[in-house]
Amino acid sequence: MNLAYSEASMFENMHDLDKVKKRMQKRNEELNDEEKQLKNEETTLKKTLISLQNLREEIRSGVTQQRLKEIVYELKMTVRVKFPFFTLAKYFVLQNVDRQLHDVRDLLHQIPDKIKRIERDRESVNKCPACGGFGSQVQRRYMREDGVVSSVMKSSECPLCKGKGRIDLNGFV
Ligand SMILES: [Zn+2]
Repeated sequence: MNLAYSEASMFENMHDLDKVKKRMQKRNEELNDEEKQLKNEETTLKKTLISLQNLREEIRSGVTQQRLKEIVYELKMTVRVKFPFFTLAKYFVLQNVDRQLHDVRDLLHQIPDKIKRIERDRESVNKCPACGGFGSQVQRRYMREDGVVSSVMKSSECPLCKGKGRIDLNGFV
């Protein structure tokens, strides 16, 4: 490898490093936003779960006709609450609440997995793209000796991460 090539390649690596860092920082921010959104979603879902559970209790333990009308309105249902449909209306409203409870529980159960996925992604965000995190690059080198050409695999320190396998986003590599 001659000097001119080596300098050119080093310059290119410095240039790449900036681009790589920017891309990684952006990905990190995206992951932080995703996590924040998920945590908000979880909080909202937990609140909804509690209010639905309370609603269910209220309906089951002797709800008045007036209150059931209000609940039907809150749930945006089209159910007639007038006698003699009161019992039937209670049944439909309960069914609706149960369905919503089921959906909310379902969404809540998915959140830990989604957070785990974000944590996994975060761990690999700053993995060096040039060496795949190994810190070294293997190159095939050709040698000519006594008229015979042979090749050897030579491992060299990764020029992008300087052998660390990861890109330090907070400082110099
Ligand atoms: Zn590397």
